Amino acid sequence: MTEVSTNWPLERVADLNAFYGDPRGSDGSVGVEWYHENMDIWSPPYPMFYSDGKHTPLHHLSVHKKCLVVFDAAFKDVLETLGHDYIVEKRLNISGGSFCYRLERGGSRLSVHSWGCAIDMDPQHNPFPHHWVANRGFIDMKFVGIMQRHGFDWRGDLEHHDIDPMHFQLCRHVF
Ligand SMILES: [Zn+2]
Repeated sequence: MTEVSTNWPLERVADLNAFYGDPRGSDGSVGVEWYHENMDIWSPPYPMFYSDGKHTPLHHLSVHKKCLVVFDAAFKDVLETLGHDYIVEKRLNISGGSFCYRLERGGSRLSVHSWGCAIDMDPQHNPFPHHWVANRGFIDMKFVGIMQRHGFDWRGDLEHHDIDPMHFQLCRHVF
C-alpha cells in the first residue's frame, strides 16, 4: 500500500494555499499557471460515471498532483476489497467530480474543490445539506472506511453531525 501523508493541511484558505498553492487567477477564475503546475489527470481504476443521470463516462478526473497517488490507492483498494458488483450496487461508481473552481455553497470563500483535493460521490443520494442516515441509500460505510484509511476526511462524519455525505477531501475539516 502507498504510504499516505498523515499531514494533510487544515481546511483553511491559508493552509490550503500553503500546501497546494494558490489557485486564484486574476479575473475570478482559476489561475492558468497554477492549474498547469499543480493539476494532474487521474484515471479511476474502475469505470466511473458522472452523476448527470445520463451515465456519462468519467474516464479522467483532474486532481492535484499531491493527491493523485492517494486517489489511486484508495479507489484500487475499494475495487480489491469490495469488488465490482458491490461497487455498482452501492453506486460507488457515480461521482459528481473532483476539481471545480467555485465558491462554497452559500458562502463567499472558495470550495475545497478549487484546490483539486476533493471528490463528490453519488450526490443524488447524498444531498447537501443532510446528515447520513442508515438504510436510506446514503453512501456505503465500507467505502467510507476505506477512504478514511487512506487519509480522506469524510464530510458526513457522524460524530460531528456533518452534513455533506457525498464529499471526501484530502484536508482536515475544522469543526
Ligand atoms: Zn464536495
